[in-house]
Amino acid sequence: MGRASIGPMSDDTTSKAKNPLAGLNLTFLAPAANAATTPVGPATTSGEPVSARVVIVGSGPAGLTAAIYAARANLAPTVIGGVVGGGQLMITSEVENYPGFPDGIQGPELMGLFKAQAERFGAKIVDADVDRVDLSARPFRLWASGVEYHADAVIVATGAEALWLGLDSETRLRGRGVSACATCDGFFFRDKEIAVVGGGDSALEEALYLTHFASKVHLVHRRDAFRGSKIMQDRVASHPKVELHLNRTVEEIVGDQHVEAIRLGKTDGPGDETLSLDGVFVAIGHRPNAAVFHGWLETDDKGYLRTDGATTATKIDGVFVAGDVDDPRYRQAVTAAGEGCRAAIDAERWLEGQESHLRSVASAGTSGS
Ligand code: NAP
Repeated sequence: MGRASIGPMSDDTTSKAKNPLAGLNLTFLAPAANAATTPVGPATTSGEPVSARVVIVGSGPAGLTAAIYAARANLAPTVIGGVVGGGQLMITSEVENYPGFPDGIQGPELMGLFKAQAERFGAKIVDADVDRVDLSARPFRLWASGVEYHADAVIVATGAEALWLGLDSETRLRGRGVSACATCDGFFFRDKEIAVVGGGDSALEEALYLTHFASKVHLVHRRDAFRGSKIMQDRVASHPKVELHLNRTVEEIVGDQHVEAIRLGKTDGPGDETLSLDGVFVAIGHRPNAAVFHGWLETDDKGYLRTDGATTATKIDGVFVAGDVDDPRYRQAVTAAGEGCRAAIDAERWLEGQESHLRSVASAGTSGS
């Protein structure tokens, strides 16, 4: 089923990562010139800060792929992976579109393999949420569960989460016919009747995509006008497999072990109606998990972090972004993993550039004395 969040992903939370840059103390580099100036309150930290060359925030496909690459580049990354680590695949059952698994794999099992691969090369994975950061100077400072981390480079891979309707029945039947990812789960609804909920481009796109599998797609929207683009509205309205249900709200998803029906309320009149069907795709938007970085990193109008486009670099030198937290478009495990790889390579090259700079400054100092 679709991607969504977790189970605990173990481990060491306080050990000090060995810094192979001993003797080249990046602490003394100038503050990041273009860093934001958000004021930083007093640290609520106990004990010595934990230092690492690279701290990766997030332990979904992007974060753990970044960890694999950074660890294999001898950067000894620390992954602050979240109290509930592993990202959206942890609440996903069957994953059939991740390359390399021709028979499919369970989401949590796949994330366990990512984690084992990262740890095999020395990545330290900490089960804690970053609650505050200071990116105004290097080393960057991050706080998680009362521990302060110092990092020469940071990779932000905190992902995004689908918005849900908030019904108890929706939560109970998630993975049992309720999904927020048509690309991930549409295949499971071949020749079945399903509903898509929402009125934006995502809902229109998912409804059309699902016509490739489903026998019928009920598109349910709470108003009488769609928010999505006109061309998509026209395509949906004229598709023989799509039936529109405007001015309808989902009151309940009915079913015991799996989805059997939805009960719709009417916003344009009294009463309700029930549709018998096998699946419900909720497509009412996503929320990037970027709150802790707001004020430091640039965001778009929906709160997604922005990179420079060609690379994973941000406006703060040494801070990189990967995965769904900057990707409102593709939102796939494989695209997130690819971005994690890019971010680790970008961080490695950036650190190498810093190191060479320090070496040349040191050698100029020696030759001048
Ligand atoms: P969106 O544009 O924010 O639309 C969300 C839709 O869900 C709205 O129609 C909204 O209803 C409805 N909704 C929100 N909360 C709801 C609730 N609690 N119950 C019922 N309905 C609810 O989100 P999106 O469709 O994911 O699109 C996000 C952005 O990505 C947009 O800018 C979109 O254009 C873009 N996008 C582009 C493409 C493409 O170009 N191919 C594809 C997908 C997305 P109201 O209309 O009543 O507010």
